[in-house]
Amino acid sequence: MSNGLLEQEVGVVKGVGKERALELAEMGINTLRDLFNYYPYRYEDYQVRDLDAIMHGDKATIEGVIFSEPLIKTLAKNKNYLSVRVAVDNYLITAVWFNRAFLKKQLQIGRPILLTGKWDKNRLQLTVSESEFLDSQQPSKKGHLLPVYSLPSNISQNVFRKILINAFKQFYQTINDYYPPEVLDKYKMYSLSEALKAIHFPKDYQDGKHARRRLVYDELLFYQLKIQYYKLHNRNSWAGTAKEIDHQRIADFINKLPFSLTKAQNRVIAEILADMSNELAMNRLLQGDVGSGKTVVAAVTLYANYLSGNQGALMVPTEILAEQHYSSMINYLANYGIEVALLTGKVTAANRRSILGQLQMGLIDVVVGTHAIIQDEVFFKNLGFVITDEQHRFGVEQRAALRKKGQEKTPDVLYMTATPIPRTLAITAYGDMEISTIDEYPVGRKKIETYWVKPKSFARVLGFMEKELKAGRQAYVICPLIEESEKLDLQNALEVHGRLTEHFSNYSIGLLHGRQTAKEKDEIMSRFTDNHINVLVSTTVVEVGVDVPNATIMVIYDAERFGLAQLHQLRGRVGRGEWQSYCVLLADPKNEISKERMRVMTETNDGFVISRKDLELRGQGDFFGSKQSGLPDFKLADLFADYRTLEVASADAGRLIKGSEFWEDPKWSRLVNELQRFAVFQNETLDS
Ligand code: ADP
Ligand code: MG
Repeated sequence: MSNGLLEQEVGVVKGVGKERALELAEMGINTLRDLFNYYPYRYEDYQVRDLDAIMHGDKATIEGVIFSEPLIKTLAKNKNYLSVRVAVDNYLITAVWFNRAFLKKQLQIGRPILLTGKWDKNRLQLTVSESEFLDSQQPSKKGHLLPVYSLPSNISQNVFRKILINAFKQFYQTINDYYPPEVLDKYKMYSLSEALKAIHFPKDYQDGKHARRRLVYDELLFYQLKIQYYKLHNRNSWAGTAKEIDHQRIADFINKLPFSLTKAQNRVIAEILADMSNELAMNRLLQGDVGSGKTVVAAVTLYANYLSGNQGALMVPTEILAEQHYSSMINYLANYGIEVALLTGKVTAANRRSILGQLQMGLIDVVVGTHAIIQDEVFFKNLGFVITDEQHRFGVEQRAALRKKGQEKTPDVLYMTATPIPRTLAITAYGDMEISTIDEYPVGRKKIETYWVKPKSFARVLGFMEKELKAGRQAYVICPLIEESEKLDLQNALEVHGRLTEHFSNYSIGLLHGRQTAKEKDEIMSRFTDNHINVLVSTTVVEVGVDVPNATIMVIYDAERFGLAQLHQLRGRVGRGEWQSYCVLLADPKNEISKERMRVMTETNDGFVISRKDLELRGQGDFFGSKQSGLPDFKLADLFADYRTLEVASADAGRLIKGSEFWEDPKWSRLVNELQRFAVFQNETLDS
């Protein structure tokens, strides 16, 4: 019934003996399914091309006739060079081989030959990597796209290709699709057998593309089915408490704020309050660009949580940020009789004991802190709501620990992030979360003007800084970044600090770097906040979220070394007050991608545009940080390139999971059976 066929051991393939089966097992190939799903990472192209169509430096295959006697030159001991003239179309070209002297005998004038190699357009010369005589009896590679696999040294490409060819010969007819025919019709998609065959042995690039499209859909649909099913069935077990929402007092609170909220802020607050009043525990991601005003959303919702009789926690990744948020929360909440406490690693032991005691007794209403607040000995009386800021800095385990702090009930959890990603991507990356987005800036916010300047023009930058300093503003200068060398980073910072101290003798220049103690850093930060320091020279320790509205200039050295997201975060330190702000990127990028990054920065302030561009420029690889990405590992799908397919798969999965047809109609039973291979689907009775 199901594709049990694919679960057969790979030993059923002709030519795969015991020993070979063991070698394949080493590569993770145990079954036919594993074999068919072991996709090539590229194709060797033996399609014959016209000389005119080949670009200089390209690798290509051409066909010709030997025209002259071959020559051998000895270059060094054991190094030689074989060359021969070949007639190709109307040209005479030179074909050269390195260390293939043994071919000389076979290169007889008049023999037709297929040559694959690197084309030098200027010298009409092909440096040959592979050749084949077309008058021999063997099956020719001519015209084919041959798959290239990542293989261990004991299995050659040809051997592996042969195994696959045999497998297709034996089983092609019996590979069953798990979709009913109407799905293939609807999307004009290859069947499973066609797709598998064509991903390994495409007739041409078009054929390979069709195969890829089908298999990418499979990957994304299966993934979506898993997370949506999980969400549908496991969410129910996160019993939270349905909180009483005091809308009147919340509205009063909002009315008394020094500014009116944006539409987007109001909308996300409503979404969060709706979650709170619901039985299910909240599991929501709040994304909003730097400066979009997430902190006040945190304050309003912490207030709502307090009114419902619960304790709240606000968790951030660094001490500096914890202190800033602490003072923000005091500003927003203290007038309402709410007890706010700060709990970081540097609170004295006695203080800490006292805070822990008060938390346990319920005397503290809101605690702000670093990960110190999720340590084992921290107990709450009735923790109802947890917010984590800059959630991408928290690992998965830390999130889980947080969830447990709510004792018997799971607290509502809100993850805030200033690294917005496109919505469909977010849905996939954080599949089990609801998503709220602040897609609007507070009114009157000025665009940060961004300039890309070559380092040699630094004198002009200094002049510009001086003007702002004279007007009473402040500046950040981010130092050259030397990867993995804290020592050199420090040296650079000291140098820049020295240079600026000399130049701006009337101003106070501060220095912030990773070698300072937390206490030293905080002291410098608070002197900067109070405008006792005019220019803050810093390594990249200036944290996301730091808020000094009087700072209007951000100068970033070696800007080409930073990723777009990081540049955008750094730039977000300015433009937080009423004044026009500026960002200067000192950069002399050598490659196109870095140049494009600088251009993007000068052209837009929109975090969503930037994150899209960032994805595009550096691929999905390191976008989420490797450790805690939570992103699934796809074989073929690329979340950005296959964005549209993702949307389709997501909608299809939702429809299937929620409808009854999927579970009842036999036409879907193959797919349902497929899904039962995944842990998510195993505990449930699918045939109910
Ligand atoms: P982020 O989303 O980066 O955390 P913040 O919450 O720090 O942004 O807000 C940035 C600045 O904008 C703060 O100084 C904050 O007081 C201000 N702000 C937030 N919301 C509004 C609003 N609706 N109108 C005016 N200013 C606002
Ligand atoms: Mg913030």
